[in-house]
Amino acid sequence: MTNMKLESHALLIDGKWLQPAKGGSIPMIDPCNGQPFAYIADGGAEDIDRAVRAAQAALDGAWGKTPASERGRILQRWGRLIEQHLEELAQIESRDTGKPIAAGRADILATARYFEFYGGAADKLHGQVIPFLDGYTVNVLREPHGVTGHIIPWNYPAQQYARTVAAALAVGNAAVVKPSEDACLSTLKISELALEAGLPAGALNVVTGLGETAGAALTAHPGVNFISFTGSPEVGQLVQQAAARNHIACTLELGGKSPQIVFADADLDKALPVVVKAIVQHAGQTCSAGSRLLVQQEIYDDFVARLADLFRKTRVGTPEMNLDCGPLMNATQRDKVVAFVKRAVDSGVPLLAQGALAEGLHSGGYWVPPALFGPVPRNHALACEELFGPVLSAIPFKDEADAIELANSTEYGLVAAVWTANGARQQRVSKQLRCGQVFINCYGAGGGVELPFGGMKKSGHGREKGFLALEHMTTTKTVVNFHG
Ligand code: NAD
Repeated sequence: MTNMKLESHALLIDGKWLQPAKGGSIPMIDPCNGQPFAYIADGGAEDIDRAVRAAQAALDGAWGKTPASERGRILQRWGRLIEQHLEELAQIESRDTGKPIAAGRADILATARYFEFYGGAADKLHGQVIPFLDGYTVNVLREPHGVTGHIIPWNYPAQQYARTVAAALAVGNAAVVKPSEDACLSTLKISELALEAGLPAGALNVVTGLGETAGAALTAHPGVNFISFTGSPEVGQLVQQAAARNHIACTLELGGKSPQIVFADADLDKALPVVVKAIVQHAGQTCSAGSRLLVQQEIYDDFVARLADLFRKTRVGTPEMNLDCGPLMNATQRDKVVAFVKRAVDSGVPLLAQGALAEGLHSGGYWVPPALFGPVPRNHALACEELFGPVLSAIPFKDEADAIELANSTEYGLVAAVWTANGARQQRVSKQLRCGQVFINCYGAGGGVELPFGGMKKSGHGREKGFLALEHMTTTKTVVNFHG
């Protein structure tokens, strides 16, 4: 890994790197040792106000006049610059989040791909002409919201930044970003590259800071016309309340308790490693982690025994060790998961297998070995609540109807997988699942840049990724022209 010194990072407002109005900084903690390794600026309400004004000025000025094709070119150039800085950005991302370096590289490639995709889409979102009464021409124009606010979490900082900001800028919004105070150094580096790519000043502004100060100020600001939020359901609710007070729309990408449904006729050899990866990847700190495993009862014992063998082989380590996963993000997250595991064991849920920590890890890191529990009682917290840790709950089911009922039984509805060789069942089950994405005989899709993504129920609403995101990032205006 790069030997970084304790750098201090500033805010990006109106194309310039500025110190926060009130001063102050926040340490960035390395999750592999619990030590600070950099500082970010502690931005607040005044900085958010400066950023929102700069964004509005950009819309009234150069950025607002930039043709769609040129916006697209800028985004594509930006994506290429990200690719050229792949190794540097991957090191930053892995250091910030603790994830294996291979995962950091994959995240940065997906990040670049968002800019390529939305750069290509920038001039392809068209309005409509509606046939109306004789003597009329009716055009439905697609217009940007204006100033968009983006609140980003810490688990996939670069990708989550890219997917929301690239879509917003592609259609001509000006963005104000509040990244996570836990991990945001890739956001700052990628934003620097935006200026190099030729993005006009003010089109993109980044205010680092705490959620309850900078984040809350962004959601409350009357100059913001749309909010995109990814994070916890609790904060999502606050964001939606703030948006309602300003009568603006928002998209909420919240958590999940996503089921993997394995029927007896599935190709179990294919399913096993995918089921492990879906929960162990980034130590379970993925909103779409496959954290519930529903297995048809006639194969339950065999499947879970084989899975336990794979879990025992999982290894946790530093980014450079490049093992199955790294540490949890912070002490709070680690303590939450460890307490959950202990409560589950104390309440008698069988702990079938645990992975191991690599040798020689720093004792101050937030290490938690992957764990497999089963059978987990259906109403146990382990079966219903999102942990955001590498913990898988296995639950047997009887038949198709039982599997669907069980899959839909939590408050969440983000992603699900159906493992079966029966084509009719693949269709029947995916139709009845209450969630935003269903995978059949696979799970996850890398970045899944082209694929609309988002939840139902407590997992949120609105869609990011794919072309559909551009519809959320725009509004329409119907122009009725009477010409006789
Ligand atoms: P969080 O919701 O606390 O933070 C997400 C973002 O919201 C951060 O940038 C934070 O600064 C900001 N924020 C916090 N309070 C705010 C407020 N009052 N107003 C505006 N913005 C505010 O999530 P977290 O602490 O990053 O993670 C906690 C939990 O969130 C996890 O355990 C997990 O369940 C969930 N999570 C989900 C996703 C996802 O992709 N769906 C990602 C990360 C975390």
